[in-house]
Amino acid sequence: MAKKAGKSYQFAGFSALYISVVLTVILGLFSFYQGEINFLHLSFFFIVCFVICFLLLQLRLEKLIYRKIKDIYDEVSLLDATSLSQQQVSTDMETLTQQIGLFAENKKLEIETLKIRENYRKEFVGNVSHELKTPLFTVQGYILTLLDGAMKDKSVRKKYLKRANKGVERLIYIVKDLDMISKFEVGGLQLQKEQFNITKLIQNVFDLLEMKAAKKNIRLLFDINYKAIEPIEVFADEERIQQVLTNLIVNSIKYGRKDGSIEVSVEHLIKNKVIVRVTDNGEGIEPQHINRVFERFFRVDKSGSRKEGGSGLGLSIVKHIIEAHNEKIYVESQFGIGSEFSFTMEKAK
Ligand code: ADP
Repeated sequence: MAKKAGKSYQFAGFSALYISVVLTVILGLFSFYQGEINFLHLSFFFIVCFVICFLLLQLRLEKLIYRKIKDIYDEVSLLDATSLSQQQVSTDMETLTQQIGLFAENKKLEIETLKIRENYRKEFVGNVSHELKTPLFTVQGYILTLLDGAMKDKSVRKKYLKRANKGVERLIYIVKDLDMISKFEVGGLQLQKEQFNITKLIQNVFDLLEMKAAKKNIRLLFDINYKAIEPIEVFADEERIQQVLTNLIVNSIKYGRKDGSIEVSVEHLIKNKVIVRVTDNGEGIEPQHINRVFERFFRVDKSGSRKEGGSGLGLSIVKHIIEAHNEKIYVESQFGIGSEFSFTMEKAK
């Protein structure tokens, strides 16, 4: 309850006034019939009566309201009632109503957040088991077939073992991705920031992915010849940024067009920032899916992506890494034309 409790003397004041007036009138009438009415005494009585009534009422009221509200808080156990004892007790009904309203609103918000989290958790557990089920059953299928006799056939044995191993590799790949995401989410992954040449790192990633791109005859290009200009030095965790670039370029290859191209550019954005853009001329993303691509396990085409070896976690990891650097990631895409993923980085001083 951020709002400081306000005190109101109105209720006690008016009540004391009514009581004092009534008692003074009664005393006045009584004195009148006795024939010894003294207005000075009556005024004195009125004042003393008013002060005593006011103090008693105010004190009782504060005690009563404090006790009642504490009881309510204790009963619903929504708030540690000790936090109330440090606060001034309000006897002003409006402030009280406001406080209770605010309290209820905060609790409602808390409950809603918990509900969303609970749904998210359920969905997450469902997604994880679904993702793990397919490769697990594949592995089990090959092993059972081998045990059922295929083991005796030398050529089949090797083939099945290789396939089972592929399934295991996929399991490891998914578990590693999940492990990284959960580490990011609990803040357990520390960044090792250092100064490095970003275009050199991009070239390294190009070299690593050359074969993969060649399978679809996709060219990996820079927008300009960065060797001919001043090196662009950035300050970030080089290993993690390599992973960001790898995930983005691998996606551009996976969802890229055969014989297409992927272009990477590094531009100076503002004084201390650069922006790295990865642009492809692949299948693109439909507008209704764009906002969801960074969600864990989100895939536009579930079967297609799985065929390509995707788990739906790649972009979620990318976003975590960029946000851990306090930077931003953007996506622009036109369905059927291509996509551009870009992220900002801090320039080295
Ligand atoms: P996946 O493992 O499925 O690739 P990601 O998290 O990397 O998971 O991507 C999520 C989804 O976003 C993909 O399944 C795909 O539908 C879409 N996507 C990502 N990158 C691209 C791209 N360059 N072009 C078109 N679609 C993309």
